Amino acid sequence: MSQNASADKGFDDLLAANRGYVDNFDMAGFDGIARAGVAIVTCMDSRIDPLGLVGLKPGDAKIFRNPGGRVGSSALEALVLATHLLGVDRILVVPHTRCAMASNSEVELRERVGASAGKDASWMTFHAIEDQEQALREDLAKVRTHPLIAEGTLVGGFVYDVDSGLLRPVS
Ligand SMILES: [Zn+2]
Repeated sequence: MSQNASADKGFDDLLAANRGYVDNFDMAGFDGIARAGVAIVTCMDSRIDPLGLVGLKPGDAKIFRNPGGRVGSSALEALVLATHLLGVDRILVVPHTRCAMASNSEVELRERVGASAGKDASWMTFHAIEDQEQALREDLAKVRTHPLIAEGTLVGGFVYDVDSGLLRPVS
């Protein structure tokens, strides 16, 4: 599908679907506390269903997503809030196999975006991941050593296999 073909539709298809969603909506009055006490940091990849892959549903968990599923400053802000104010006592950091952020170099990402945009993208940083497991270990350390993550919070790292659905622990 070309970019224009989807832009021509506007948001009508999605808003129509939303009206159907409202008909079956049963979460009115939810307080925003993560009922299962879980927070998940993962990639924006469309192959990942972060709640479904660990048997959870809306209301159960805090989900923080970005390209690569990295723990940066905004993820840490979310996790500090989640562990103190939103009932979270277990955090999963979940990068995945065949991630574009780990299979392209920074230069390649800039070239591909530049080619799509038809303009220079060399000034933008995408934070390509050189070694996924090493990056995950660094991200786990950032969470575990953060002075404001609530004490006693369990922090686990897992690589999600987008072809089997399996989580592989990384320590
Ligand atoms: Zn990814």
